[in-house]
Amino acid sequence: MLVVLGAGESGIGAALLGHKLGMTVFVSDAGPINDSRKIELDDIGVRWEERRHTEEIVLNASIVVKSPGMPDTELIDKVIHADIELVSEIEFASRYTQGKIIAITGSNGKTTTASLCYHILKRNGFDVTLAGNIGVSFARCLAQNDSDYWVLELSSFQLDHIIHFQPDIAMVLNISSDHLDRYNGSLDNYIRAKMRITENQTSEHSFIYWNDDLNIIKHLKDVRSTKYSFGNHNISQGAQLNKDKISINIKEDQLHMTIHELALQGKHNCYNSMAGGIAAKLLGISNEVVRECLSDFEKIEHRLEPVMKVYGVNYINDSKATNVNASWYALDSMVNPVVWICGGVDKGNDYSDLIPIVREKVKAIVCLGTDNSKIIEAFGEIVDTIVDTSDMKSAVKSSYKLASKNDVVLLSPACASFDLFSNYEDRGRQFKKHIRLL
Ligand code: ADP
Repeated sequence: MLVVLGAGESGIGAALLGHKLGMTVFVSDAGPINDSRKIELDDIGVRWEERRHTEEIVLNASIVVKSPGMPDTELIDKVIHADIELVSEIEFASRYTQGKIIAITGSNGKTTTASLCYHILKRNGFDVTLAGNIGVSFARCLAQNDSDYWVLELSSFQLDHIIHFQPDIAMVLNISSDHLDRYNGSLDNYIRAKMRITENQTSEHSFIYWNDDLNIIKHLKDVRSTKYSFGNHNISQGAQLNKDKISINIKEDQLHMTIHELALQGKHNCYNSMAGGIAAKLLGISNEVVRECLSDFEKIEHRLEPVMKVYGVNYINDSKATNVNASWYALDSMVNPVVWICGGVDKGNDYSDLIPIVREKVKAIVCLGTDNSKIIEAFGEIVDTIVDTSDMKSAVKSSYKLASKNDVVLLSPACASFDLFSNYEDRGRQFKKHIRLL
C-alpha cells in the first residue's frame, strides 16, 4: 500500500500516479483537505483522511510519500523506524518515467529559468513537460502522460527524501539564505539540501551552476557529474558574461549574443539566460533556435514585470521577490531613482547586504507589512523618507505621492506575503489593481 502524507499538489499527484500504477493508495493529511482534492480522490476511489494521521494505517504502508510542506514529525520517525520506504513525490515519480530530466533549483530564478528551458525545448519540437514547484506536480503530469523530456522546477524541500533521483541535467542557479527557519537556521544545511540535486549523478550527467557563488563552489568537490558553469570569469565549458556580451561555449560549439538581444533584462536574468542556453546546447539544440528563444521569451508575471507608466512614473511588479537576494537584483537592475515598496513576513532577513544598493538607488521606502520595525531600523539612517503602511491601497497611494516624473515605483518586498495577502500572486495583483485605480 502507498500512503501519501499531505494532500497538497504533490501529495494528490503522487496518489493519482500510484492509483494509475495499480497500487492501493491512502492519503492522510493532518489538516483539512481542500474540497476539490477530495472530489478528485473520491472520483478514482482513493481513500483519504483529514485532520489526523491514523498511525495503524500509515505504519502498514510498503511505501510512504511525504509531501514537501510537511516537517519531520514523530510520525516520520516511526515510519523510518518501521523500515518503511520513505520518499518524496519527486523520487516516487522519477521511478516511472523513461524521459530525460532537466532539474532546476536555486534560491532565486527557478521559475524563470525552468520556463525559459521549456520554451527552448518546445520550440525545438521536443516532447517536453514543465512541472514541479512551478505549479502542477511531476507525479500528476506523469499520471497523465510520460514525456521525452521533463523540465522540473525543484525547491529544496522537494529534494528532501530523494533516494535514486538522477537528473540528466541538474542546475543550481544560486544559493543565498532563504528558508533558514526550516533548516535550523543553518545555511550549510540549506546548501546541502540544494546540492542533493547532484547526489546520484555520474559523469554521464551534467551539472550547471553559477561559478561566482561561493556557497556552490565550496560543495563542488562532491559532484561527480560533468560540470558546466556560467559567470563573469573565464569559463572554458559553459557560459560567460563579459561586459555586454555573453558567449556560450559547449564542446567546440560557440554562441555569442549581446545582453541587449536578450528578452530577459537585468544581470540576474543574464545568468538565467546563460544557464538555460547551456542546457539547450547540451541537448544538441541549434544556435539558431537558442538565440531566437533567448530573445523572444516573454516575461513572467510578478517577476520584474512592468505594469504601466502613470504621469511618467514606471510601476514595476516584482512581488515574487520574497527574499533579500531577489530584491538586491531587482534594485540593481533599476536605472532611475526608486520608490521601493518592501516588507511582509521576514524569514530571518539580514538587510545589511542591501544597504549599499539602497543608498545608491532608493529615494524613498514605503513599508508594506503588519510589522515594519525591522525595515525602518535597517534603513532609517540612510533613506530620508520612510512611510509605514499596512495595506496595498495606502502603499500605492504613498508611492504615487513620493514619485516624480521618470522615477520607478518598485514592489520588490524581500519578504513573504502571508501577513497581508494570501500569496505573492495576490500581492502582485492587488498592486496592479491599485495602480490602475490611480
Ligand atoms: P524562484 O522560482 O526561484 O522563486 P523566480 O524566477 O520566480 O525564482 O524569481 C523570483 C525572484 O527572484 C524575482 O523577483 C526575480 O526577479 C528574482 N530573480 C530571478 N532570477 C534571479 C537570479 N538568478 N538571482 C537573483 N534573483 C533572481
